[in-house]
Amino acid sequence: MKKGYFSDFGGVFVPETLMPALVELEAAFESARKDDAFLAGLESEFKSFVGRPTPITFAPRLSEELGCELYFKREDLCHSGAHKINNALGQALLAKKMGKKRVIAETGAGQHGVAVATAAARLGLEAEIFMGEVDMERQKPNVFRMKLHGAKVTPVSSGSKTLKDAVNECLREWTSSVRTTHYLLGSALGPHPYPEMVAFFQSVIGREARKQFAESPGGLPDVVVACVGGGSNSIGIFKGFLDEASVRLVGVEAGGRGIESGLHAARFSDAKKGRVGVLHGTKSFVLQDTDGQIAETHSVSAGLDYPAVGPEHAALRESGRARYDYATDTEALAAFKLLSEKEGILPALESSHALAWVVKHASELADKRVLVNLSGRGDKDVFHVANELGERID
Ligand SMILES: *Cc1c(COP(=O)(O)O)cnc(C)c1O
Repeated sequence: MKKGYFSDFGGVFVPETLMPALVELEAAFESARKDDAFLAGLESEFKSFVGRPTPITFAPRLSEELGCELYFKREDLCHSGAHKINNALGQALLAKKMGKKRVIAETGAGQHGVAVATAAARLGLEAEIFMGEVDMERQKPNVFRMKLHGAKVTPVSSGSKTLKDAVNECLREWTSSVRTTHYLLGSALGPHPYPEMVAFFQSVIGREARKQFAESPGGLPDVVVACVGGGSNSIGIFKGFLDEASVRLVGVEAGGRGIESGLHAARFSDAKKGRVGVLHGTKSFVLQDTDGQIAETHSVSAGLDYPAVGPEHAALRESGRARYDYATDTEALAAFKLLSEKEGILPALESSHALAWVVKHASELADKRVLVNLSGRGDKDVFHVANELGERID
């Protein structure tokens, strides 16, 4: 396999001016991943700051209702509310090791921005978060959280003033500040070495889960299910089970208002618009119109609302090792309510997509041991859900 590629996906599609930064980063990452002191520092932060290992929770009432043995990996219990902190801390520690004083990051809904601001405050790094003007208006509480952690939030007013414009702005800013600055990218996307590096920092999820299951009386799960935005929580949990052929892996994309409606973020499931292309430095499946323009996307969950998917997932799908499917907004909202009512857990709307897939496929999962990655908690989503359900709470 070519370096930086997963099958024919991945690579480095960036302007020449960014190459030195990526080469420096790759070398630093390759050395850090083999450096016992670095890994011990990361483990110590995971334990004392993030609250790892996160538990596995058996869901007795839902298991009975669905007819399978249902378990959750509880990334919702991570400090700051989701798996994103694993990657933010990992890269922030790496930035420090590289002697950088500052991190920059893109954010859409603000979840990654909050994780970066949190990690930067913890480690004493300066943080600047680029965020589309439209997103800043939609996500005021997260903008304020970032500022509380001492981060600077810079509005992006180009293009559609949303996530993909914020990524472009970050890449531009990085070019001019690479000596002092690390670009802390938020998912298993972007040019090499990002997809591999983000997967490495998130692989703690799968490593823990595998150990937790291997030590349980029933052994490994039969099926592992995770939602797929850029693909970081899913690749993180998949890594723990990739070499166990008996464990089926399922990634669930945002079906939005349905594939036919065109309003979704299901890069793999829309056979017409989801085609191989290049976005933000990497080659993978990208939603595009017939002219190759990036298509509009929609999801009830902001974290899954992105037109491209991480390149390693494209390769896992091609090889058949993982299967990809989708859940719609309506199905995810129903799963959100179900888990809240039946198990006392408010899941993030993103994670609700993974559970929604299990609900929909309960008959083929009869008596199976099913592990769902609960990538984040739903506190951030309660106003949105109330709105969708037609209830007023403010
Ligand atoms: C951001 C986010 C996601 C989607 O991102 P991935 O990189 O695909 O994991 C999923 N769940 C939650 C809770 C998120 O905040």
